[in-house]
Amino acid sequence: MRNAWTCAQGVTFNIKGPNLFLARCHCLGDWKRVMEGGPWQFHRDPVVLVEYDGFTNVADYALNMYPLWARIKGLPDGLTRKKELAEKVAKKVGDPPFTVVVNEGRINPSNFLRVRVFVNVNQPLVRFVPITLKERKKYPVRCEKLPNFCYYCGCMGHVVEECGDGVHDPDVCEWGDWLHWSNDSEGASDAKGGRGGSWSNAAGRGGGNTGAG
Ligand SMILES: [Zn+2]
Repeated sequence: MRNAWTCAQGVTFNIKGPNLFLARCHCLGDWKRVMEGGPWQFHRDPVVLVEYDGFTNVADYALNMYPLWARIKGLPDGLTRKKELAEKVAKKVGDPPFTVVVNEGRINPSNFLRVRVFVNVNQPLVRFVPITLKERKKYPVRCEKLPNFCYYCGCMGHVVEECGDGVHDPDVCEWGDWLHWSNDSEGASDAKGGRGGSWSNAAGRGGGNTGAG
């Protein structure tokens, strides 16, 4: 992580448990970059960050919310122009705080809405957003820089070969690499599977020794 974060003042890691680290930045600029610059990955697994208050037992933190940039395709124009409406769409993909990129006033608006949401790594990734205007429609979701996730249960942190006994017919898998956003309009990508496993991380301004990086 040290390489990915490229902190000006360096960062120190304190091992708190399996896949659990307390990371300390040494200047505000580095801290902001780490906390706001995500999502971060380690070997294509999600790195979950929570601000540490300096007092609480690190093990007591629920480390499960991961920031993701998602794009919802083909929405009616009206839902992509106003922040309030765009946030209602974002809410169907994940939790706040939301960042929405709206098309307000743009002459050639893109045919997707780009939102940053927080998703629970232990819950299946959202694939479609159902919206009822005149009729109920499902709008496909694609995610940018998605970490490894399971094509069988839709959760991050492991791949399909590691889910249960790992034997799952691809035909019954409801998720797939199509969930990755790519610049071609269909959102297909050449993403490949890899090793899974979970990785968590607590970051804060307190902390100690070198762990991983
Ligand atoms: Zn799974």
